[in-house]
Amino acid sequence: MKNVIAIDGPAGAGKSTTAKLAAQKIGYTYIDTGAMYRAVAWKTLQAKKPVTDELILATVKDMTINLRYDNGVTRVFVDVDKEITNEIRTPAINEIVSQVARLKDVRDKLVTLQREMAKRGKVLMDGRDIGTNVLPDADLKIFLTAGIDERAKRRYNELTAKGHNVDLAEIKASITNRDKIDSERAVAPLKQADDAILLDTTAMSIDEVVDKIVELAEGE
Ligand code: C5P
Repeated sequence: MKNVIAIDGPAGAGKSTTAKLAAQKIGYTYIDTGAMYRAVAWKTLQAKKPVTDELILATVKDMTINLRYDNGVTRVFVDVDKEITNEIRTPAINEIVSQVARLKDVRDKLVTLQREMAKRGKVLMDGRDIGTNVLPDADLKIFLTAGIDERAKRRYNELTAKGHNVDLAEIKASITNRDKIDSERAVAPLKQADDAILLDTTAMSIDEVVDKIVELAEGE
């Protein structure tokens, strides 16, 4: 059984959905690192000022972030136990999160926390730079991807199912933009690690992806 598992990939590839289910099946702690960058983006927006690098850096400097993994749900808390689990999944956060995540001081703080969390072992961590930067010695690395049209369609279906009125072309543009910033940034860009297993999920169901992750986790 692999002790530390890293899953990376572009936006909307289904990482969190499948990683969470796979972690539950094998009894591992699931760590959603994207939620941490989203928490910094959320707190930055609370200032109700134009979002500049200075504002982001001042915000991250004196905030605390805690993830609590409860019954398969990652709950996100900032500062003195303020829960923002649902607040971080909005179009406004999607718009600025990649801008937040490209800053070195932001990454340094969050990566330190992420490495600390992984120390306990039996973890499955997902993000963009887990296999390349956060946990380069992970026992298993998976790069999960899917074609852009399929990723946009999945996100569209997910949002319409929740009752949101969204536009497919806009979702596709937003995902493409986030991937571009994430892949082109100077610090720990989104990239497949040399020793990662590529899993293209374009034609796979959620169950098939989960089973594949579990099979790889259980491998020698
Ligand atoms: O995974 P999720 O879509 O929630 O991630 C939100 C954003 O956080 C990404 O688009 C990326 O900018 C940033 N991120 C990152 N490194 C990670 C995880 C997320 O830069 N390990």
